[in-house]
Amino acid sequence: MPMVGTEFFRNPLGLLGTVRCQPWHFEDKFVLIGDAAHAIVPFYGQGMNASFEDCLVLDNILDNWEGNMAELFAEFEKQRKPNADAIANLAIENFYEMRDGVAEPAFCAKTIGANH
Ligand SMILES: Cc1cc2nc3c(=O)[nH]c(=O)nc-3n(C[C@H](O)[C@H](O)[C@H](O)COP(=O)(O)OP(=O)(O)OC[C@H]3O[C@@H](n4cnc5c(N)ncnc54)[C@H](O)[C@@H]3O)c2cc1C
Repeated sequence: MPMVGTEFFRNPLGLLGTVRCQPWHFEDKFVLIGDAAHAIVPFYGQGMNASFEDCLVLDNILDNWEGNMAELFAEFEKQRKPNADAIANLAIENFYEMRDGVAEPAFCAKTIGANH
């Protein structure tokens, strides 16, 4: 990266954040899925996976649903929200681990030990 100093200051900084919102639906009009409902920081590498899981769960509920769409959306949110919150917390914890933990002597000793 020969130009890293120039490029760093020339380019805009990105923003990584966590989206925590509720409810994910409005009546029977729409439902949020994927990052719109639960964007997470990318330090667990699971954001897209969580979004695909939304599709799977929504599809499964749709298969046998006989109620109205507002209830269906609420059921979807009930099933997915706890998991979305959990992976959001794990991703943030892993950020701290990667930022601070890897510099700790005990962590380095474990890593060296695992590689030999
Ligand atoms: C740096 C980084 C690394 C990541 N690494 C991983 C990883 O290793 N593994 C993993 O599973 N996930 C990872 N993710 C997360 C993953 O990219 C997202 O979770 C996933 O893309 C979410 O998909 P989505 O369809 O919900 O949203 P998006 O991919 O954001 O799609 C939303 C789309 O809507 C469009 N749009 C926005 N506004 C409008 C509008 N008004 N009208 C029409 N279109 C609109 C946007 O242009 C975009 O194409 C990472 C994310 C980042 C930022």
